[in-house]
Amino acid sequence: MTARVIDGKAFAARLRDRIADHAHAFEERAGRKAGLAVVLVGEDPASEVYVRSKARATVEAGMASFEFKLPADAAEAELLDRIAKLNADPAVDGILVQLPLPRHMNEDKVIAAIDPNKDVDGFHVVNAGRLAVGQHGFVPCTPLGCLMLLKDQLGSLEGLDAVVIGRSNIVGKPMAALLTRENATVTLAHSRTKDLPDVVRRADIVVAAVGRPGMVRGSWIKPGAIVLDVGINRVEGEGGKTRLVGDVAYDEAKEVAGAITPVPGGVGPMTIAVLLRNTVVSAYRREGLDLPKDAI
Ligand code: NAD
Repeated sequence: MTARVIDGKAFAARLRDRIADHAHAFEERAGRKAGLAVVLVGEDPASEVYVRSKARATVEAGMASFEFKLPADAAEAELLDRIAKLNADPAVDGILVQLPLPRHMNEDKVIAAIDPNKDVDGFHVVNAGRLAVGQHGFVPCTPLGCLMLLKDQLGSLEGLDAVVIGRSNIVGKPMAALLTRENATVTLAHSRTKDLPDVVRRADIVVAAVGRPGMVRGSWIKPGAIVLDVGINRVEGEGGKTRLVGDVAYDEAKEVAGAITPVPGGVGPMTIAVLLRNTVVSAYRREGLDLPKDAI
């Protein structure tokens, strides 16, 4: 059996179209565009690429993009001051501070300074807590994108066995919380998990978010399982060129799985689409306007 390939790029494009419709409707009703502010500290080339593509996607979706760049040696107080201004700015619905920050800054302190009701990345402890107890808040973009792909594939996740590999605050833990909310039976595996291949073999749903190229082998996958590969790893390919691979040994796993996301073109494109979704949801909430339930 060869797995269905889950086209995250196409799914994300459709999601972005729906978000653009809601963003335009918001503008008509609120008399202003929904706005996302992105703050970049330093000149990390990968971060610059991410920030540029987030800004471009924001404008393409009919929202306002506000970009702020601070030098790598900026004082932490300067960043906190910028965040305070964005918290107070009524034109800003979402605030994103691009991580990682320079070493002299305390990431926890910086994230804690963001108004939780503008924290469209869902990294603030208040939003982590809301997710844990089942209240409305903001859910981190990558795991929420994974959930959307899973529901599109499976409909209901109720009673299914799900294994999440990796327990980071931005992917693994919120992914486990979302799957629990959907009534899956969830195992959160990590670097100290014993007999990981056996644990994964039980799963109807596998989400790999480890950061180790090709770690999850085809022989670990239960036939027919749905495999989402969050990993983005740069490895040296033919002719010394770098290429992107996931955490799953794709060629092996696709012979066993029922459906699988490729890298690139699977989970990756969902992250920015969900960031836009969270921003437009924030805009509707902040203006006290109703967004149709499950609209996006
Ligand atoms: P992280 O380094 O913060 O966490 C990795 C987790 O993997 C840890 O919880 C650790 O316990 C676990 N782990 C490490 N080695 C393991 C092993 N041998 N067996 C089992 N578990 C092990 O990483 P992260 O931020 O969660 O990111 C994970 C991967 O996802 C990375 O490749 C990252 O680039 C990618 N990522 C992609 C997106 C996207 O698609 N947009 C977003 C975020 C992260």
